[in-house]
Amino acid sequence: MAYDYDLIAIGGGSGGIALSNRAASYGARCLIIEKDDRMGGTCVNRGCVPKKAMWYAADMAHALRDAPAYGYDVKQAKFDWATFVSKRENYIGNINKYYVSSFEKNGVDTAYGHARLVDKNTVAVNGKQYSAERIALAPGGAPTVPDIPGKELAITSDGFFELTSLPEKVLVLGAGYIAVELAGMLQALGADVTLGVRTKQFLRGFEPMLFENLSDAMQADGVTLSTEFTTAKIEKQDGKLTAHSESGDTLTGFDQIIFAIGRTPATSELGLAEAGVEVNDRGYIPVDKFQETNVPGIFAVGDVTGAAELTPVAIAAGRRMADRLYNGQTDRYLKYENIATVVFSHPPIGTIGLTEAQAREQFGDEVKTYETGFNPMYMSFTEHKVRTAMKLIVVGSEERVVGCHMIGLAVDEMLQGFAVAISMGATKKDFDDTVAIHPTSSEELVTMR
Ligand SMILES: Cc1cc2nc3c(=O)[nH]c(=O)nc-3n(C[C@H](O)[C@H](O)[C@H](O)COP(=O)(O)OP(=O)(O)OC[C@H]3O[C@@H](n4cnc5c(N)ncnc54)[C@H](O)[C@@H]3O)c2cc1C
Repeated sequence: MAYDYDLIAIGGGSGGIALSNRAASYGARCLIIEKDDRMGGTCVNRGCVPKKAMWYAADMAHALRDAPAYGYDVKQAKFDWATFVSKRENYIGNINKYYVSSFEKNGVDTAYGHARLVDKNTVAVNGKQYSAERIALAPGGAPTVPDIPGKELAITSDGFFELTSLPEKVLVLGAGYIAVELAGMLQALGADVTLGVRTKQFLRGFEPMLFENLSDAMQADGVTLSTEFTTAKIEKQDGKLTAHSESGDTLTGFDQIIFAIGRTPATSELGLAEAGVEVNDRGYIPVDKFQETNVPGIFAVGDVTGAAELTPVAIAAGRRMADRLYNGQTDRYLKYENIATVVFSHPPIGTIGLTEAQAREQFGDEVKTYETGFNPMYMSFTEHKVRTAMKLIVVGSEERVVGCHMIGLAVDEMLQGFAVAISMGATKKDFDDTVAIHPTSSEELVTMR
């Protein structure tokens, strides 16, 4: 049967773009459909990119705070939100344009509008239908909003990137990396931030020492941490917002409340039932190791699969899929292990592999840990101290490194190289045999006793 395309990708975000461009570069006839009026998806428009730009701005605020300790006479530096946002949006606009030109270069057709499966080989968008031999679902997700009274008074990370001025007093609700990042950035830029967490700690699932160190650092920066606060209702009185908890506590006087409580996969309006595609009880689309759903010929990549919801993961899954399907690399697929990730908190966190608890579950008494904590040299001059902490998890007599967890100045840029070594199976001896770079914080990782 003749199809309009070899491959249709639903979703012009990290996964859909990477997949379509790679597939088209091998000669596949591709169509990518995006419901927004710009390509790029969450990462570029409402995620990693604007977030990292704001993190740099926030980091600069900390550098200005520390500058007098290095002999600078810093006059009162003022941050102009509007100037920054216009530069940030301009930068994002250039990335959007770059994607469009990449499609032109690779011969990928584009369509804008909400796509829906009609059957296993047909997609409808804007009243038109397109057929393809294969369909890839890459619709990502959206911030979760709890169904509570007053929910419309709060914003999400999407709304955060639309703010036109710095709110004075903000409540960030959530415990994941996005909550922590938003809270840290807002505080550094001058807001008075409360982080409201449902349980006793944030970043659950990460190595616990990361929470302990970050919690201290954030509170030293002025963030108020409110634990065991499950929001039941939000109210507005005299222009200020109040959050009420299930147990009757209140947090009050806020200009903005931001939900950062997780993300919901965008699968409800995709016509999955029409094509027979299964979703799990949380709305994610299960796939096999080749990213194929329960329906042969329909694939899913990126956040919608619920596995390691990160941009480079979506990109890698998409590209490997194209390598396999359109370039004869028959056993190429993404292994979801040893995925390095950074939390752009203040200070940042870098982590790869197993936590100690996970390693003990898998390897029992074969697990050994190495830890260090110190004030980096930069802080020797400054009044405001932020500690660095590092932990290696090793296994067996050869001490293979199965986990590396760090928090502190510059660990965000430190991790990638160590991730290569760890992915290759490096042992503690390999670390120790590597001559250190001095004076750096990273040298501690190759000199731990
Ligand atoms: C605040 C924030 C910060 C983040 N920071 C980082 C970070 O620092 N590092 C990192 O690696 N990851 C980060 N992420 C995660 C990252 O953005 C995602 O993992 C990544 O964007 C997933 O790519 P995707 O292709 O699966 O989905 P998306 O990028 O979400 O793209 C999906 C696209 O599909 C479109 N779409 C949905 N339904 C339809 C439909 N029916 N028809 C047509 N189009 C549709 C959407 O409009 C969207 O453009 C962050 C996310 C957020 C929210």
